Amino acid sequence: MPTATMTPIPNTQYLDVHALRADFPILHRRVHDKPLVYLDSAASSQKPQAVLDAMERYYETTHANVHRGVHTLSEEATVQYEAARARVADFIGACCPKEVIWTRNATEAINLVAYSWGRANLRRGDRILLTEMEHHANLVPWQILAAETSVDLDFVPIADNGTLILDDPDRLLTPRTRLFAFTAMSNVLGTINPVKELTAAAHRAGALVLVDGAQSVPHMPVNVQELDIDFLAFSAHKMLGPTGIGALWGRRELLNAMPPFMGGGDMIREVHLRESTWNELPWKFEAGTPAIAEAIGFGAAVDYLDAIGMDTVHRHEQEITAYAMQKLSEVEGLKILGPGPEQRGGLVSFILGDVHPHDIAGVLDSMGIAIRAGHHCAQPLHERYGIPASARASFYIYNTEAEIDLLVAGLHKVVEFFSY
Ligand code: PLP
Repeated sequence: MPTATMTPIPNTQYLDVHALRADFPILHRRVHDKPLVYLDSAASSQKPQAVLDAMERYYETTHANVHRGVHTLSEEATVQYEAARARVADFIGACCPKEVIWTRNATEAINLVAYSWGRANLRRGDRILLTEMEHHANLVPWQILAAETSVDLDFVPIADNGTLILDDPDRLLTPRTRLFAFTAMSNVLGTINPVKELTAAAHRAGALVLVDGAQSVPHMPVNVQELDIDFLAFSAHKMLGPTGIGALWGRRELLNAMPPFMGGGDMIREVHLRESTWNELPWKFEAGTPAIAEAIGFGAAVDYLDAIGMDTVHRHEQEITAYAMQKLSEVEGLKILGPGPEQRGGLVSFILGDVHPHDIAGVLDSMGIAIRAGHHCAQPLHERYGIPASARASFYIYNTEAEIDLLVAGLHKVVEFFSY
C-alpha cells in the first residue's frame, strides 16, 4: 500500500507528471501534515508558475487601464490584453478574436446569451431544450428567462448509465425549439456528450446550440468550427488560469445581431444624454474596466496547455480515470455514478454505503486528500438518481496513479471507520 510520503511519482504513459508537478507551487504544500493530494480540479484547477508569473509581471511592469490611454503603459497593457484574447480564440479554433467575449466565468457567459439573445429572440410558445445533467449555471438562467418570456423548457432525459437518451430527437427538438443548450461533459457523471451529433440534430430542427464547455475546454481538444456549434461558454480557473475570467465564444453574425448585455464605459461608440450607440465586437459586450491581469493569466494558461497538447491532456486523464474506476470498484459498498471509462472524462463521482459524502470528504481531508462532496451544483441530476449528494474525485494533468492509490487507501479507512 502506498504511503503518504512515497516518491518519486510515477509517470503515466502520456505525461511526465513528475516534471510537470514541479511547475505547480501549491502541490508542494502539506495539509494536516500530509502531502496535498488535490483531486478537486473539476471545481477549480491549480495554477502553474508560468500563469502566476505572467500576472505578477504584468502588475510589476505594465499595469494601466486598457483601450482608453495614449500613454505607453496603457498601450502595452492593451496589446497584452488583446493578445490573450487572440490566444484563447486560437485555442478553441475560433475564426477570429472578436468572437471571444471576456466574461467573469462560464456562468456569466451563459447568462449573457440568456439575457441578450434570449430576450431579443424568444417569444411565448418557443422552447429551449436542456438536459437533466446540467450544472445550475446552464439551468437557472433559462428558468429565469422562461419565467419572463413564457418560453417552455424541455429536458433530454438520462439513462441509468449516465448517458443522454436522445433516441427520439423529433419529439424533443420540435419546430418551436429555438435553442439546445447542453454540457459537453457532465461535472458529476463525467459523461462526455457527442457534441457534434447533438449539434447536427439541433440544426436539422432549426435550433441554435449553446455548449457549456466548463468541463470540456480544460480537458480535451475543442474546435468550435469543427463542432459547428453556435455558442461556447467556459472558465479560465478550471483550466490552469485565474479566477474572475471566463469567455463566451459565439458566431460573429449572432453576436453582431445581439443587443448589449450590460451598459457603461468601453461598450459604447458614442454616448449622448438620451441615447448611445454600441462599440463593435467584442467590446460591445464588455462594459467597464475588465479583468486585465486575469486575461493575461488566461493567455498564459492556454500557452501552458498548448505546449502539452490537448490530446495528451485528454489521454492522460482517461488513463488516470480508468485506473481510478478499477481501484474504486474494489472498495466495499462503493457505487460509481455514470458511464464506463471510454465515455467519460477525468472525474469519478460515487456514493459509499450510507456514509454521507461530507463525512467521506472530511475523513479524506484529514489525510491531506481534497475531494468534493455535495450536489456539485447539479441538484436535479442527483434527484434523478434519488440521492441527495455524492462524493467526487476529479483529475487533471498533475494527478498520478499514486494519488489514486492514496485516495483508495483513504476510502478503505472510511469504510473501517464507519464500519457499515
Ligand atoms: N458548467 C459546468 C459543467 C461546471 O462544472 C461548472 C462549474 O463547476 C460551471 C458550468 C460553472 O462554472 P463557473 O462557476 O466557473 O462559472
